[in-house]
Amino acid sequence: MTEPVRKDHIRRENVPWRTTDDALTECGLDVRDCQALTPQAMLEKIAEQGEVRASLSSCMTCWQHRRTDRGQLLRDAVSRLINRSWHGKESGRVERELRAIGLLVAAHREEFETTLRDMDEAVDIRTARKKPPAQNFGGLKL
Ligand SMILES: [Zn+2]
Repeated sequence: MTEPVRKDHIRRENVPWRTTDDALTECGLDVRDCQALTPQAMLEKIAEQGEVRASLSSCMTCWQHRRTDRGQLLRDAVSRLINRSWHGKESGRVERELRAIGLLVAAHREEFETTLRDMDEAVDIRTARKKPPAQNFGGLKL
């Protein structure tokens, strides 16, 4: 008799201002009750084992939510938060968090603006790697 294969789940990305709350997997399990990988760890597993083999030891619901785009992970986290804010225990908390963020930004406006500007000017290393090297012959672009 063979033992059942333990399935890896994917931990949900959380909004940046929350730390330990909402420790759920993409399929809704508490991360303390299962083997939950971070999205990055799941990508490393896929890179090491290949798509097919990695999928065989992964929860299929979580597998459908695997993402490579960090921006999409964050957008999903914000979307979940907003959707939950309409009802239940989250309803007042999300509103308080957004108001607190607004107060913090108002108190540190210059630092906030500088951070946004720095983020706008930062080079995305993944995008930079995809571009072919510029060919420059004596100032002439080819
Ligand atoms: Zn799962």
